[in-house]
Amino acid sequence: MGPSGEVDDFFNHSCDPNAGLKITATKAVLVAIKDISPEQEITWDYSTTMDEDDWEMNGNCGSNNCRGKIKDLKYLPPEIQQKYLTLDLVPEYIVRKYFPHLRNLGPNSNVHQSN
Ligand SMILES: [Zn+2]
Repeated sequence: MGPSGEVDDFFNHSCDPNAGLKITATKAVLVAIKDISPEQEITWDYSTTMDEDDWEMNGNCGSNNCRGKIKDLKYLPPEIQQKYLTLDLVPEYIVRKYFPHLRNLGPNSNVHQSN
């Protein structure tokens, strides 16, 4: 994930993030999921928005539950998937594909995204 000019240039990955990326049809919004002090770095878990299959990257974020590798949400332990699903930090296209029983019935549920 090199510099892309997108929002991810400004934040770092963590396996124990203090924020998350909420992606809707029209925009990506960073939301805090823990208290963040002003001097603290903002982190989010890149895996929450990944559906790349064979691609992964090394990531030693230093958190206690660090997984070492950053890869697709579908490869994460179920309890971690559940955590992000509960926090509503999983983009609709991933929910639709891998967790169809949890289909988000919110205002964006009819929007079709192509990737
Ligand atoms: Zn980590």
